Amino acid sequence: MKVAKVQGNLELKNSGGLSLFFIGTGSAFSKVNFQNNVLFIKGKNHILIDCGTLCPLAISQYGVSIAQIDNIFLTHSHADHIGGMEEFAFTAYYSKKKRPLVVIDDKYKKLLWNESLRGGLGYSKTFAGKTATFDDYFVQLKPQKVKCGRHVYERAVIGGKDGIDLKIYSTDHSNAKDASGKSFRSKGVVVDDRILFTGDTRFDKKGLDRILGDFDIEWIFHDACWFKNEVHANYADLKTLPADLKKKMYLCHCDEKLLGMDIKKDGFAGFAKRGFYYNF
Ligand SMILES: [Zn+2]
Repeated sequence: MKVAKVQGNLELKNSGGLSLFFIGTGSAFSKVNFQNNVLFIKGKNHILIDCGTLCPLAISQYGVSIAQIDNIFLTHSHADHIGGMEEFAFTAYYSKKKRPLVVIDDKYKKLLWNESLRGGLGYSKTFAGKTATFDDYFVQLKPQKVKCGRHVYERAVIGGKDGIDLKIYSTDHSNAKDASGKSFRSKGVVVDDRILFTGDTRFDKKGLDRILGDFDIEWIFHDACWFKNEVHANYADLKTLPADLKKKMYLCHCDEKLLGMDIKKDGFAGFAKRGFYYNF
């Protein structure tokens, strides 16, 4: 892997290899590194993973308007992951006359629209005299179930053959449940069967072992947090991982306190850096 600082504007295409670009690397309330939203780029294809409240601002720092994004996948409904979706939808619609593609299943589409997006997007405009729906602003790409190794994942491909291949799985982000016993939906992704981006997750060694057993993972970009809490992987726990795993693990979604640590000394590959391409 080669790590290269962006020169000039962020490019949404490349010569064909898989690249990961961090628009931000910060925790939910970070005041220094925006939020943990990333782009995967490969040939003429790209996909944004998450669009938090600061994402449209963060991506503009690299000379790209959020309206230029064609494809997106949302890991979960916290505002640092979906809070920029209203601006994304409106600017894509008004400035580009386009509907971005969203990798999303029917269940989450309904939940995302009814519980998060409808308040702003649903009542601002009518389409053919009718109240706006998710489909007026976005094109849905439904992931399909696929077995990889010993477990079933959801799969979506951006761009057909030679496109960006996503395998989606559930993460253990929160144990809070609603009155009907449903827990918070949260996802991580394996890209091209080789790069693991955990999204938001608590420390989950069993979950990590499952992914590593099903795929030949080269690099891991893992959620990390300095302090003990109920929704993110704590650094003290991450430090207990085996050395061969830590050396291919970059930490992201980091709070400022964690950024002060010398994590390479503890065996990690380092902190993920915003404004850099990770070329695999
Ligand atoms: Zn979260």
